[in-house]
Amino acid sequence: MKIVFATNNENKIKEIQSMLPNNITIVSLESIGCFEEIPETAASIEGNAIMKANYITENYGYDCFADDTGLEIEALNNEPGVFSARYAGEQRSSEDNINKVLHLLNNENNRNAQFKTVICLNFKGKQQLFTGIAKGNITTVKIGTGGFGYDPIFQPKGHQETFAELSIQTKNQISHRGKATQLLINFLSTTI
Ligand code: IMP
Repeated sequence: MKIVFATNNENKIKEIQSMLPNNITIVSLESIGCFEEIPETAASIEGNAIMKANYITENYGYDCFADDTGLEIEALNNEPGVFSARYAGEQRSSEDNINKVLHLLNNENNRNAQFKTVICLNFKGKQQLFTGIAKGNITTVKIGTGGFGYDPIFQPKGHQETFAELSIQTKNQISHRGKATQLLINFLSTTI
């Protein structure tokens, strides 16, 4: 069977396709003729995942899933959360976002934080959410060159390294997105 993944991120498509059984094929937005920007203006991570999946199902009629991720920092009332991509402005610069977080946490002892990914699946007329959480803390300086986004300042619980220092394989095993994706895959594998 085929299912649309509502993302323009080729890496995410490849990552999930490589984890799925052979009888499930991921279809890109391009192949269904969707070239417009999908709205993600909800007030929560869950809301955005639902909004993106529903946009495809309602406008194109396909079974579909969509994901949304945010970094929630305890001392910042769970910000940046749904604003993670554009925390320091519409230029969506990871460098600027990281600098803003480090500045706001200057002299703050509580560095607890978590990444949260929500995947919304619209499948055979039903909607299902899968949530993955990675707990950790925010470092005081950037460490590591791998990964993307906030990876250089996020140290996952139980590890000495930041996400930016870990291999992709290790990150996938413990990350918010890896956990949510595994739940989605378990569901699809047992339902189909
Ligand atoms: P998205 O919903 O996957 O596009 O993620 C929103 C924003 O959260 C991105 O622009 C990144 O800044 C940040 N982000 C998402 N996933 C990760 C991650 O695994 N590591 C670091 N930052 C991330």
